Amino acid sequence: MVMLSHGTWFKRNDGKFKELNFSSIKRCRNKSFKKYYFYKMTNNTKSLSLNEIRSDDFRLMQENAYKNDLVRLHRRLDEFVSTPCPACGGQNSNYHFEKYKCMFLECVACATIFMSPRPTPDVMDDYYSNSENYAIWNKYIFPKSEANRREKICRPNLDRIIDECKKRGLKKPAFLEIGPGFGTFSALANDSGYFGNVSVVERTPSMADACRAKGLHVVESALEEITHDFFETADVVACFEVIEHVFEPINFLSGISRMLKPSGLFMFTCPNGKGFDTEMLRDASPSVDTEHVNLFNPQSIAVLLNRAGFDVVSVETPGQLDVELVRRSVLENKTYLKEDPFWRTLFIEKFDSLGADFQRFLIEHKLSGNMRVIARKNINVS
Ligand SMILES: [Zn+2]
Repeated sequence: MVMLSHGTWFKRNDGKFKELNFSSIKRCRNKSFKKYYFYKMTNNTKSLSLNEIRSDDFRLMQENAYKNDLVRLHRRLDEFVSTPCPACGGQNSNYHFEKYKCMFLECVACATIFMSPRPTPDVMDDYYSNSENYAIWNKYIFPKSEANRREKICRPNLDRIIDECKKRGLKKPAFLEIGPGFGTFSALANDSGYFGNVSVVERTPSMADACRAKGLHVVESALEEITHDFFETADVVACFEVIEHVFEPINFLSGISRMLKPSGLFMFTCPNGKGFDTEMLRDASPSVDTEHVNLFNPQSIAVLLNRAGFDVVSVETPGQLDVELVRRSVLENKTYLKEDPFWRTLFIEKFDSLGADFQRFLIEHKLSGNMRVIARKNINVS
């Protein structure tokens, strides 16, 4: 049996060959086969480590830059505004924790963790366009880690969305990415030859230039300023690690919906506020910072998508860094977990033999700290 990744073939019990894809595996009734497949799927990429996508060489430089960003942000704290739950719109929420002088609440109805009061769109624009931390990411961290990101993060996401398109019989679908940064994902999508055309919407001039240098068609604009010419032109929209940053996610999703043809697909990734790293480390989790104002979870993201006129196709948590992130906090004495015998065994004494298995468990049970969501534009939405 050949079993390597999506897009390969395997021999069925009746002797016929069948193409392996995510949906066929999900339907498969053979439990040991399924288990082996998911084991291979996660094992293939288990070597993804923090250092590969966020080199320690730049950690100190980046931490200092972030401190300067915080000083600028704190000068505008009195302009922050209170919001209801960004997922369900509920007004009933409880204090969850505070970090960097910013307050995070937890929605009683859907358990979304969100910053409130939060910076207005104007304050956010100022923050991102003058961010020293982002300058370091763009100058050092992203370029150095691009190859690892392409193979270990972008490629599995691309395989997944192509599987979903094939399942629906889409022929040469038009692909659009919102906020592509350096264009790593879209360049890979372009190179795959699967899509009829690949375009990106990028508002930051230096990033737009980087995308053009990769041969991508660039619409240099903010999503909300895109003109009618582009409405309902995409079969697939993708957007990675963006929705957790936006002031009003439901409006952002409406903007995405406008770009999609009826029944078009939307794939995105974002942190999972109910993921292992955030549940264990709470405000000490790296997912909790001044930029991630929305920490949805697998249930609440579905509520938000439904409100915005999308049907959920799948919610997965393929994130691979929870165990390493929590272990790092334990080793650096940043958490009480070091005193707990169970976690001490897992993270220190038996980490080499149990760590990877435990991460796989988190992925399989939607408990990892990073979500990948696929949704379909509801045909009743115009
Ligand atoms: Zn809510």
